[in-house]
Amino acid sequence: MSENTPLPIVEEDDWYRDHLATVDEHGKRVWIYPKKPKGKFTNYRTVVSVILLVILFGMPWIRVHGNPLFMFNILERKFILFGSYFPPQDFHLFVLAMIIMVIFIALFTVIYGRIFCGWICPQTIFMESVYRKIEYWIEGDSNAQRRLNNAPWTASKFIKKFSKQVIFFSIAVLVANTFLSYIIGTDQVLAIVKDPISKHTQGFLAMIAFSFAFYGVFAFLREQVCTTICPYGRLQGVLLDKNSVVITYDYLRGEPRGKIHKAVKGKEEEAAKMNALLGDCIDCKMCIQVCPTGIDIRNGTQLECVNCTACIDACDEVMTKVNRPTGLIRYDSEEGIRTGAKKIMTPRAIAYTSVLGVLVLLEIILFATRTQVEGLLLRTPGMLYQKTDDGYISNLYNYQFVNKTSDTLALEMELIGIDGRIKWVGHAPIAIPNDVTEGAVFVELPPSELQTGKNKITLRVRSGDRTVDQVKTSFLAP
Ligand code: SF4
Ligand code: SF4
Repeated sequence: MSENTPLPIVEEDDWYRDHLATVDEHGKRVWIYPKKPKGKFTNYRTVVSVILLVILFGMPWIRVHGNPLFMFNILERKFILFGSYFPPQDFHLFVLAMIIMVIFIALFTVIYGRIFCGWICPQTIFMESVYRKIEYWIEGDSNAQRRLNNAPWTASKFIKKFSKQVIFFSIAVLVANTFLSYIIGTDQVLAIVKDPISKHTQGFLAMIAFSFAFYGVFAFLREQVCTTICPYGRLQGVLLDKNSVVITYDYLRGEPRGKIHKAVKGKEEEAAKMNALLGDCIDCKMCIQVCPTGIDIRNGTQLECVNCTACIDACDEVMTKVNRPTGLIRYDSEEGIRTGAKKIMTPRAIAYTSVLGVLVLLEIILFATRTQVEGLLLRTPGMLYQKTDDGYISNLYNYQFVNKTSDTLALEMELIGIDGRIKWVGHAPIAIPNDVTEGAVFVELPPSELQTGKNKITLRVRSGDRTVDQVKTSFLAP
């Protein structure tokens, strides 16, 4: 299309179909000043947010057998789940857990729409329940914020803006430190905070980078994260179907929308007739004014809707004021609005549930059968076999024991189904908690028990009386 080609004319009612509410016709960002929401759902969400924030900030400090409850140290490939160490050898459990999580979120979305975005997503929780609340507290409601932004710079404006940004950045630092705690643990984070910068230059730089990233997201990017960056938001188009429960406008009840005709003296009947032709939506646009992504939910389900419930509360308040039933905007499905029926389990939801059930079962089995120690015994490269003075055949192995427990384990090995001798090079391994212990060991077998060439052998690994693992390896004989 050339520069001079006129843009296609879009009917005003369809404007939302090819426009973002947060971008003007010149492609510039439209800053959203959502009106402060209030109502039943806002109160519920505040309670849920407080609980989730306590969990988020508190969890890195919880210890189980001396280990953090959760730690995802990608850099050192050290993962701890519910206080248990998961070495790279257990990575398949992680992958499976991730797949389960993705299917769970997909299933949840198919059934309950974007409930995750509105109630659980850290972006929404921090934005709506922390940063936005601070903004309302310092700058006032939407109109006051708009007025302040358009006003010339005065001492009062400077103090408000400066104090807001200082608080925003301080919270971003707190969030960044908490985020880092999930990666490297609170001990490391405290060390970075307390020690001279030169001792932890990389950690300090990461802390600064994360702090600025979170500050940028919550102070400036805001709803853009949900409407244009978040991949989960982009997936809504394929995950939602007409039976998914979303925040939706009851167009059957609400349309045709229109202002209430006030009865003028002597023309009461005329006003009543006009009102009778209208639906319940009085076109007050309160639902748009409270929307943090700037959309009009009356246009139907849109990708930008983060299911924050603000429009439900706004509309319920309006409906109460005009003596009409609440719930014109509510949690419902497109099919539910159209037919009045409530159907949650669709064939797609049943299929996802079945797959999810199988994967969860598999994960439980793999967790339950996970060994405390994972051993690996490989013949030392370049070595074949030797004959001992008493006629035994000896093979040299390199061993590796991953101790997944929080205890130091003194390990022993014994051959299963074959007579032979184990001779450690140096001392028997002492497996360090949550770490890998390496060394070398000789296995000596009588020739009578062996065939020429490669023989398969199995060894039991013990710690005291407990069998902690079984390892299989090959043994070379002349
Ligand atoms: S449409 Fe309603 S639920 Fe969706 S983001 Fe806007 S205010 Fe929140
Ligand atoms: S708040 Fe309710 S009544 Fe007002 S415009 Fe929105 S849907 Fe209509």
